[in-house]
Amino acid sequence: MTARILVVDDVPANLKLLEARLLAEYYEVVTARSGPDAIEICESSKVDAILLDIMMPGMDGFEVCSRLKADPATMHIPVVMITALDQASDRVRGLEAGADDFLTKPVNDLQLLTRVRSLVRLKALTDELRLRAATTRNIGIEQMLRKDAVGEEVPHVLLVDEDPISEKQVNEMLHGHFVVDSARDPQMALRRASEGDYECIIVSTSFSEHDPLRLCSQLRALESTHLVPIILMACERDEDCVIRGLELAVNDYVLKPVERQELLARLRTQVRRKRYNDSLRSSVARTVEMAITDPLTGLYNRRYLDSHLENLFDRAMARKQPLSIMLADIDRFKDINDTWGHDGGDAVLKEFADRLRKNLRGIDLVCRFGGEEFVIVMPNTALAVAKKVAERIRSQIAENPFPAGEGKPSINVTSSLGVAAVKQESDTVKDLLKRADVALYEAKTRGRNRVVAPAA
Ligand code: GH3
Ligand code: MG
Ligand code: MG
Repeated sequence: MTARILVVDDVPANLKLLEARLLAEYYEVVTARSGPDAIEICESSKVDAILLDIMMPGMDGFEVCSRLKADPATMHIPVVMITALDQASDRVRGLEAGADDFLTKPVNDLQLLTRVRSLVRLKALTDELRLRAATTRNIGIEQMLRKDAVGEEVPHVLLVDEDPISEKQVNEMLHGHFVVDSARDPQMALRRASEGDYECIIVSTSFSEHDPLRLCSQLRALESTHLVPIILMACERDEDCVIRGLELAVNDYVLKPVERQELLARLRTQVRRKRYNDSLRSSVARTVEMAITDPLTGLYNRRYLDSHLENLFDRAMARKQPLSIMLADIDRFKDINDTWGHDGGDAVLKEFADRLRKNLRGIDLVCRFGGEEFVIVMPNTALAVAKKVAERIRSQIAENPFPAGEGKPSINVTSSLGVAAVKQESDTVKDLLKRADVALYEAKTRGRNRVVAPAA
């Protein structure tokens, strides 16, 4: 995946070095010699990741990072800080400023490329979600990434470590900030992880008999855990394991002996990212739902029917399976509105929709076509069966008056239904809808409160 990387350093030789390595991997590279220049570039053009030097005259790297992370327009760009020494205190300050990762000078090639690759991948996902969420105009989501807006709830984390001493140490470090559950082996970890609602999983790499990366890939594969961030807890000598883990989409790592502030900060970063992505994802889901459902009845709307009926029709044709369609229309609905008011009419529509739902199978597609007209698509259902279903719906409506609210007499409602089924040769969706519509019209003209289902 190609991406545009911004490298920020006040020393030209350092810039050249990093630029050359990234260009060799076909990244597009932009450079900046100072903090203000870097911020200007991020604000005015698309940047997919930033490699940021800490020691710079004027505005230092911590300050640049804090400013970028405080601005909704730039807060989602991953920042990798480059520290001169492997100083735990620098890392903690960087994480507090919102940095996503660290590299130590002199920069190790493999680490540079794995880190950049994994952050660019994450950024691409977040970009996609941001783009889709933008249509909801869901203001407030951006606030989620702010470091003071991790959310009220204390996050639950799962610690997977077979060594009771190290498990106890980590537990003590996290006490008061996270609720920690433990698992001693991968089987228990998988079970706990899929049952619990964890916002991060810490996996120690020092199992005596198990492969920690196998556990990580299983966690990635499980539906219930594939979005939960994983932090590896590794010894210096396990560097290979860490690098392979990062390629497997492990999110981050800490080295033993674990530094308390660093672990806390890295956990907070992961939880913050997860909550941010979760909220983006649910806003996308809401948008999709809003686009395809009718707000009054909760049924699918016409737009959804238009796009989906074609699929169901093609599938039935290809598999040579029957498919039936039913149009249902409430009789003299204008009179109901006139007698009970528009709100009374709305209540009837809701109740009518509920009764449709109750009398149909989960695979049947129920849509409000408009006004007081409904379309029901029944896959793998022949005309004779569909006719029986239609008859059952008709009687459920006609024989049980609708409630009109407390202290009021109930409302008598009837409906007319037209049914049609797919004919295998040369039929089209349009033909099918037309035949159902003609049948409905016939039901109306023949006195209403009836089902018409002409055999083809
Ligand atoms: P028919 O038996 O021939 O179907 O007569 P009808 O009165 O049911 O049919 P018509 O199509 O003439 O009238 C439908 C009425 O439904 C007109 C419209 O004002 C009303 N209507 C459409 N949408 C809504 C809605 O969302 N809520 C309410 N309360 N009324 C609606
Ligand atoms: Mg009507
Ligand atoms: Mg009508």
